[in-house]
Amino acid sequence: MKRYIDTVLGLIFPNLCYACREYEPLNNQLFCLSCQERLPYVDSPKDAFAALEGKDFFPDEITDYSALFYFTKDSHVAEMIHRIKYEGQFRMAKHLGTLLAEKVFHDQDLSNYVIVPVPIHKKRKRERGYNQAEEIAKGFASVKNIPIINNHLIRTKHDKSQTAKDRKERSEALKHSFGLDKNEEHLSHIILIDDVITTGSTISACYAQLIKKSPTKVIVTSLGVSI
Ligand SMILES: [Zn+2]
Repeated sequence: MKRYIDTVLGLIFPNLCYACREYEPLNNQLFCLSCQERLPYVDSPKDAFAALEGKDFFPDEITDYSALFYFTKDSHVAEMIHRIKYEGQFRMAKHLGTLLAEKVFHDQDLSNYVIVPVPIHKKRKRERGYNQAEEIAKGFASVKNIPIINNHLIRTKHDKSQTAKDRKERSEALKHSFGLDKNEEHLSHIILIDDVITTGSTISACYAQLIKKSPTKVIVTSLGVSI
């Protein structure tokens, strides 16, 4: 029955490349051969870290950062991020999370870590139907076999007018937009996951909350890092 449903779904929604949406990938891959070769993969954590240069709001204390792709405007990567955020493509988010874990963290032992996805406000989550960072985390967790903790870090403010503010004002507003759930115990080893890092101010605001109680080792990772 499941195979039958998969076949029917495959006819209605052919398995197109996640990046170009034109060609079919081979053997359950996410991308067609052409995109596979051309997508701007970040080669190493060192390169990802270098891409943070000039992101004034990214906390200096975080020394462990990695990303899957470089993010530029009007690119396939930007289109994918748009689809997972605004077009309901949560499955794509999950599959890209899987790829992030496989490609970037393949030889890292993360067994004493838990994943904390960057939260969105519950009102936004209701509108969207999901939190894209949580979906990325699901894919990641399935590869590394580690838990996701969704209720530890919470988004306390639902700010609709973010785009109207300049970078500094946005960063200031974000500082007061996250909190820790009162009932949650302290987490000592955290992988903080987001979809894309642009200025670093979201990560900074989340990090400030995560280290509030006592020293905490935080690894940050994302699908994209803007350059
Ligand atoms: Zn393609």
